[in-house]
Amino acid sequence: MLDIEDIRKEFPILESRIYNKPLVYLDNAATTQKPKCVIDTISNVYTTMNANVHRGVHHLSQVATIAMEESRETVRKFIGAEHSHEIIFTRGTTESINLVASSFGGTFLKAGDEIIISTMEHHSNIVPWQLLQARLGIKIRVIPLTGNCKLDIEAYKQLFNANTRLVSIAHVSNVLGATNPIKEIIDIAHSHDVPVLVDGAQSIPHKKIDVKELDADFLAFSGHKVYGPTGVGVLYGKEKWLEAMQPYHGGGEMIKRVRFDKTTFNELPYKFEAGTPDYVGIIALGKALEWVNRIGIENIATHEHELTMYALEQLRRIPALRIFGEPDGSAISFLIGDIHPADLGTILDRLGIAIRTGHHCAQPLMDYLGIPGTARASFAVYNTKEEIDILMQGIERAVKMLS
Ligand code: PLP
Repeated sequence: MLDIEDIRKEFPILESRIYNKPLVYLDNAATTQKPKCVIDTISNVYTTMNANVHRGVHHLSQVATIAMEESRETVRKFIGAEHSHEIIFTRGTTESINLVASSFGGTFLKAGDEIIISTMEHHSNIVPWQLLQARLGIKIRVIPLTGNCKLDIEAYKQLFNANTRLVSIAHVSNVLGATNPIKEIIDIAHSHDVPVLVDGAQSIPHKKIDVKELDADFLAFSGHKVYGPTGVGVLYGKEKWLEAMQPYHGGGEMIKRVRFDKTTFNELPYKFEAGTPDYVGIIALGKALEWVNRIGIENIATHEHELTMYALEQLRRIPALRIFGEPDGSAISFLIGDIHPADLGTILDRLGIAIRTGHHCAQPLMDYLGIPGTARASFAVYNTKEEIDILMQGIERAVKMLS
């Protein structure tokens, strides 16, 4: 059993009052709040060990480098990767997916090749492939959804052919808050010798992920959605793919030897980490994952699942409220009658309640649902049933005002 009140004390921002009401923060799918140990780490690195990593013989540079590489090891263990050089630090999920599109695409794809994504993807798992389509002439195939917004696995199986080169899929939808059967998706792709990129932006904060157990070829996630700082994220890739792939960005650190007639590239993971990395953010991300380990990802998952089930039960009592898909543990998207979600969100905001409204960077899914957007409440380990009660009171009040 987690002591949520104790956990809340570690998050200074949760003490805030918004319009003189206690903050009820239910926008965790967009970004999570940060525990004090993560905030302090950022300040400590600048105060005690700031120096550019990897290039210095001097003491501070070596201390900063060791701390950054320890963080890589923390990430490796967190996701069960075989080697720490399979962990590439990026700016976040978006950059990680763009890296794969550019480098895997540039190395392995040609006109007429096909990749598979799904109807429920975030724009960051759609647009990089469209850019590649414009560059190379590849084809994008899209897995349709079944009536209850689940991936149509039978239709997915039919999308494979001799030209299929990659599957790129969200583990958990940021709109529907539902978990896709990622192991089954990977196994089906592998039976066709096709690798899989897992968009873990919405799963890493909420469930145990073991890339070896899943046999995922790539995994992308963002630090800021898992109690870490903004501006830093991870791409995991199997060594065999990363070794073969051309670099993404060119610059310092990713080279072995530069001559005007020929440049050779550094070994993994540095081949993909051009320029000065956000070593402060990387070190703080390591601290965030250590914090998650201390609380226990299974404990977090259990608590968030309970919150989600409680919220669903309460929401279903509200007349004319529609829930999209079958949320199972992190986010709930809903609409009430013909109330515009932005109006609902604005009234809730005046009551100190932060939810997100709009298309959630998933316009193709909104088109499929035939709606412009939804209201979305999303949960983290520090949320409580009392906060859900406040949300319900807020919704009831907003409905009275807007109906
Ligand atoms: N993929 C999913 C499923 C997401 O929910 C998000 C962010 O909301 C992203 C990708 C993009 O993450 P970031 O903006 O941190 O790069």
